[in-house]
Amino acid sequence: MKRKIVVLGGGPCGLSAAWELSKYGHDVTVVEKEPMVGGLCITNEYKGYRFDLGGHRFISRNEELVCDIRKMMGDELLVSKRKSVILLKEKVFHYPLSIKDIVLKMNVWTNLKVLTTYIMAAFLKIVFRKKDISFENWIVNRFGRTLYTLFFGPYTEKLWGISPKRISSDWASQRISLLDLKDVLFRLFRLKKDTPRTFAQTYFYPKKGIGQMFDMMSEEIKKKGGKIVLNAKVSHIRVHDNHIEGIDYLQRGSMKTVNCDFIISTIPLPDLIHAFPRHLAKDVLYHADALKFRAVRFVNILVDLPDISENTWMYVSEGKYIMTRIQEPKRRSIFNAPEGKTSVLLEIPCNEHDEIWNCSEEDLLQRCLRDLNELGIDIQDKIIDYFTTRVTHGYPVYSHDYGIHRLEIFSFLDTYENIVTCGRQGTFRYLFMDTAMEMGIAAARNLMLDNVAGREKVQLMRSGGELIEVSSVTA
Ligand SMILES: Cc1cc2nc3c(=O)[nH]c(=O)nc-3n(C[C@H](O)[C@H](O)[C@H](O)COP(=O)(O)OP(=O)(O)OC[C@H]3O[C@@H](n4cnc5c(N)ncnc54)[C@H](O)[C@@H]3O)c2cc1C
Repeated sequence: MKRKIVVLGGGPCGLSAAWELSKYGHDVTVVEKEPMVGGLCITNEYKGYRFDLGGHRFISRNEELVCDIRKMMGDELLVSKRKSVILLKEKVFHYPLSIKDIVLKMNVWTNLKVLTTYIMAAFLKIVFRKKDISFENWIVNRFGRTLYTLFFGPYTEKLWGISPKRISSDWASQRISLLDLKDVLFRLFRLKKDTPRTFAQTYFYPKKGIGQMFDMMSEEIKKKGGKIVLNAKVSHIRVHDNHIEGIDYLQRGSMKTVNCDFIISTIPLPDLIHAFPRHLAKDVLYHADALKFRAVRFVNILVDLPDISENTWMYVSEGKYIMTRIQEPKRRSIFNAPEGKTSVLLEIPCNEHDEIWNCSEEDLLQRCLRDLNELGIDIQDKIIDYFTTRVTHGYPVYSHDYGIHRLEIFSFLDTYENIVTCGRQGTFRYLFMDTAMEMGIAAARNLMLDNVAGREKVQLMRSGGELIEVSSVTA
């Protein structure tokens, strides 16, 4: 049975859902508030230079997804190599953290401290069965206090703008693929060979920036009859009993309505709840408002130099510097800058409407140039032009109680029979784009179970984006 499905949000998750649905001829409409698709994975083009919203890379263990993306992109998809470093205390360390570097580049006293605090942490963990409640506990229990104070603590505080004591350990377990210092040592001596994401040396990247992947996906959706409505902000969910009948969106000052049989929502959970009729959502508004996002400002600088470094990412952990990462987009694709030129992209975490968010472009540039200079990157006299970009929903803030708020919201949404919420914003989870895409595809397949009979494996999904895999499906 063909259904009319509306997808809220045209980022990687929403587009992947629509991509899958359109392959089976469903009547699918994507409603996206921005003038272009891609969500956090857009690429801005300016004077022949291209800048992502913080350089992205595509890595996935899902062979089917990788194969479909390669087929869609053909020669437009590059395989790039990653080399990342940590700039710390005027030294350059390998990223991810390498024991060899710590031993060789830190003084004897620091090395002794690293070792003793690690042994102490390991001992306390075994004897007192210390629990990981906060991000700080998680790291200290696995790496010891010295490494926490040197790198993880300051970086995390800068990224989230709050003490790592107030951040749930969930973030560490999702973000840091190394298990502990022992794991680092095992890898150093090649006693462990599997490669978690953090270690991946190669990745896929489109010639014209990560956004090209989603521009091409959107073209395929349209070719197959799907609709993509841009500049359209979803503002109301139309409800009758426990059934959602459609949505209203605001487009260039006028309100429009789309009716539907089913909704796949990938917009931020709080925004979705606020779009429900107030009298129905009143008990969960508090939980919706308790979920906070960290914003990011990006400084994009066009540089009249052929190269700056050979690194894909340079992590800057010390709190005295404004940026968390320095990137050279050309390292991902040579087509990201005109021949013989390069560019610099800086990621600066902030909160919406705080001092950094409101800072003028010129002041922010000057602050960044001072920091870059101190870090040994002098581009002051080589700047051709620059611009800044921003995102409001960069990172879901994993406060200690975020899980409770999320659960209350999912319980509320579960009372409606025809909506599923997925993706990074829709599940309030720190997801990479491949998982967001998998979730979108899984949500689409869940709706079309009768259409996919005969497939060997189908991923089913509940609201909240929990993936449950079943091995066979019957019509
Ligand atoms: C700095 C940074 C670097 C990253 N680097 C990587 C990387 O290297 N590799 C990787 O795999 N992942 C990376 N990610 C994560 C990746 O960007 C996300 O996993 C991915 O974008 C999630 O896709 P999504 O569709 O779930 O959400 P989003 O991309 O956020 O898309 C949500 C969409 O909903 C739209 N929307 C919101 N509200 C409304 C509304 N009311 N009405 C209509 N539309 C609405 C938004 O405009 C947006 O287009 C990075 C993220 C950041 C912040």
